Amino acid sequence: MADHGRSEALFARARRVTPGGVSSPVRSFRAVGGDPYFVARGEGAYVVDVDGNRYVDLVQSYGASLVGHAHPVVVEAIAEAARNGTTFGAPTEGEVLLAEAIVARVPGCEQVRLVSSGTEAAMSAIRVARGFTGRSRVVKFAGCYHGHSDGLLAGGGSGVATLGLPDSAGVPPGAVADTVVVPYNRVPEIDERVACVIVEPVAANMGLVPPRPGFLEGLRDACDAVGALLVFDEVITGFRIGAGGASEWSGVAPDLWCFGKVIGGGLPVGAFGGRAEVLGVLAPDGPVYQAGTLSGNPLATAAGLAVLTMVDQAAYTELADRVGRFADRLAGVLGDVLDAEGAGMAVQVPAVGPLVGVFFTPTGTGPVGDYEEAKASAATGLYARFFTAMLDRGVAFAPGPYEVAFPSLAHGEAELAFVTDVAGDALAEALATQAREATVRQPG
Ligand SMILES: *Cc1c(COP(=O)(O)O)cnc(C)c1O
Repeated sequence: MADHGRSEALFARARRVTPGGVSSPVRSFRAVGGDPYFVARGEGAYVVDVDGNRYVDLVQSYGASLVGHAHPVVVEAIAEAARNGTTFGAPTEGEVLLAEAIVARVPGCEQVRLVSSGTEAAMSAIRVARGFTGRSRVVKFAGCYHGHSDGLLAGGGSGVATLGLPDSAGVPPGAVADTVVVPYNRVPEIDERVACVIVEPVAANMGLVPPRPGFLEGLRDACDAVGALLVFDEVITGFRIGAGGASEWSGVAPDLWCFGKVIGGGLPVGAFGGRAEVLGVLAPDGPVYQAGTLSGNPLATAAGLAVLTMVDQAAYTELADRVGRFADRLAGVLGDVLDAEGAGMAVQVPAVGPLVGVFFTPTGTGPVGDYEEAKASAATGLYARFFTAMLDRGVAFAPGPYEVAFPSLAHGEAELAFVTDVAGDALAEALATQAREATVRQPG
């Protein structure tokens, strides 16, 4: 049995000085049971914990890392930037270079403003949409996550979903009074009160739920019909499912984009962008206020730029192909085990570009297409057992059924083969654990 003594000791100390022992709730393992591993270092596709256990890391900071951990080019870019000073409160060339790199890759996105997180990006994009249209109402989709700002913390995905909170305590009803939550993959009826419709164009915070054909096009038409703006939250999909993100992938152009994760190269960055006409409402040119002491931070822009310039379209295509084959193999391996055990369960392993989801569902369930269906999959409880059995075998999936796997450019055939090699055995153990627990709960 692997040693986890140092992680356990750190977690005990952490719980004394920080709520739940973590800086972000999903890291607590509450959704899967057990204690989190504390990371000592990352190396490409791997993380090594403080007890020396090594894992193929499919978390990759929930998608912030595209080229793998501690890539030498990124490390050098950060080191070089740091030698020149880490923050000034005055403009730097790095901001121009990163903004240029973003607008050059995303057709239709003429300008961006840099912030420090995806949360800020989405929050600010909404403010721009409201300022531009002079309207209040925001439409979002159940199971989509747009960060933890008050107005968007309704029907959220990711950690909010994991914790089973439809909303959050501490968010007054007034803050979400103008937020309308509707089901994913169905085009809602909207009217002239709507400032914007915000959507994850490929939903990746309720597991991986691709848009059905016509959904994004339908949103574009619905927005155009009433003069509302369409906001793509590409904090995950941006610069991951291709250089042009989900708007290029789908052929549907939004009015506003939100970015984060990949564009920081592993440091805290977000950005929101759109047509120059729309962003013109922002201060200092316009009346919509938005600001940030560390916005456009030199280390973060250097790291982000290093990643964006390193990864060309060929690399994206190769990664998506490799991961697509991996997803098929994983579905095969897991499906065989479920069939052999007569578990009455099936598995779905959707993939979009290099994003991979794992849904265990009762047999006969169609492809998971919205939050209700994602919740039904999570309710089987099998993901949590599978997660634990995989972790014991040296593979770190995300510790919650609503997250997705983020194989990076550092995940070669060998690392991905390792995952599929141990997955069947892990699932068999997970099923056995689940059966045993069911018997304990219902004696006789
Ligand atoms: C992660 C995420 C956010 C929030 O980004 P943070 O950097 O965690 O604030 C927003 N939208 C989506 C789609 C995300 O996945």
